[in-house]
Amino acid sequence: MLIFLDIDGVMIPAASWKPTPNLDDDFPQFSMKAVSNLNQILIETNASIVLTTSHKSRFSTSEWESIFKARGIDVKIQKLDDNLNNLDRKGEILNWIDKNWNYEKFVIIDDDKNLNGLPTEIKEKLVLTKSLVGINEEDASSAIDMLKKRSLVAA
Ligand SMILES: [Mg+2]
Repeated sequence: MLIFLDIDGVMIPAASWKPTPNLDDDFPQFSMKAVSNLNQILIETNASIVLTTSHKSRFSTSEWESIFKARGIDVKIQKLDDNLNNLDRKGEILNWIDKNWNYEKFVIIDDDKNLNGLPTEIKEKLVLTKSLVGINEEDASSAIDMLKKRSLVAA
């Protein structure tokens, strides 16, 4: 199972008047609530992460795993390709699915409303967070339900 995970507006609530401090690894702290809600999803589903954030190219996947670990999240991480063609988030995700998807279950957790324009069968797997809040408990239970739903496609 995969979680396509954004960071800004998901793990770090957007609040430009109050910049989030960086930790020693030069990346901002995550919201404690978002960490606990994401961990709830990981505990219940054993999913791994595909990072979609625009920050993805700043670090290698093993550096990202350390960054998440330092914030209390122990998970295997891969990421979307570097966005050399300036695709929007929707285009980046569709591109990755087209090239890499192995019929495993997935959810997309993001605050980018343009993702509402995803094709229906993929949009069904979208959990749109509130940018100022990040992943809340309701988002976490939606994601868990989507990941545990019995697949109609034989994999
Ligand atoms: Mg975002």
